[in-house]
Amino acid sequence: MGLLDGKTALVTGVANKDSIAWAATRSLLDHGARVALTYQNERLESRVRALAAECDPPLPCFQMDATIEEDVTRAFEAIGKEFGGRLDMVVHSIAFARKEDLAGGIVETSADGFKLAQEVSTYTLISLMRGALPLMQAAGGGSAVTLSYLGGERVVPNYNVMGLCKASLESAMRYLAWDLGKHNVRVNAVSAGPVKTLAARGISGFSGMLDYVAQKAPLGRNVTQEEVGNACLFLLSPLSSGITGEVLYVDAGYHIMGM
Ligand code: NAP
Repeated sequence: MGLLDGKTALVTGVANKDSIAWAATRSLLDHGARVALTYQNERLESRVRALAAECDPPLPCFQMDATIEEDVTRAFEAIGKEFGGRLDMVVHSIAFARKEDLAGGIVETSADGFKLAQEVSTYTLISLMRGALPLMQAAGGGSAVTLSYLGGERVVPNYNVMGLCKASLESAMRYLAWDLGKHNVRVNAVSAGPVKTLAARGISGFSGMLDYVAQKAPLGRNVTQEEVGNACLFLLSPLSSGITGEVLYVDAGYHIMGM
């Protein structure tokens, strides 16, 4: 018996094979879950469908721009149909900020750039959980995980507006954990160390961040997507049934260091 046999999951935020969301998908599939993917728009559709087709059986894929309420409603209707009206797990692996807001000084951040980053990177966790709730209630409860980063708590040069987003994402995660706990729905975050992905390449000086962490972290290296995906699996699975509102660091121990 697989740990997640008979369980269903929605994974958002697969852009390509390097995506943390794809690593989480692989971990969930390896442990017996059925997984559905969403893609933001037509630009990404063929890439996501090609990855989904590599799985046996191929994974169902649904279009959803998480900032568009009708998309979220329509996607959860389709997911409900796919999974017989129930859903056990959600991975929120979505973030975006304009390139100009991921360099230079935070004092230069425009109101538009701030709103856009917060809407995509934080508000979407709330709208996803609203969409998932009826399906999770039908399943008798559920578990969700979102992806955060240390830059939400400490100053990481160039992370800028995304640091503000991760701070509010972690707070939203805790408020959701409180709000949805009465429905037996858990909500947690994985705070991942830097990993090379499309989104990460948008941050100025990202390869310097990788080198710095590898030098300073207790494990003396960076983490892999697989390690982050496995931590998501833990927080989604019954193995973590007593944990909600928590941030789990998967960063080779970097966050404990003072110097
Ligand atoms: P990624 O592969 O580029 O994934 C980011 C995903 O967010 C993409 O699939 C992107 O789609 C999607 N997205 C953006 N706007 C969206 C919207 N409106 N609706 C639906 N999807 C949308 O990069 P990643 O590094 O795996 O990022 C996943 C999560 O991990 C993010 O929350 C990121 O902040 C977090 N994280 C990453 C690191 C790291 O070092 N990589 C570390 C800690 C935390 P498009 O390609 O269409 O924009």
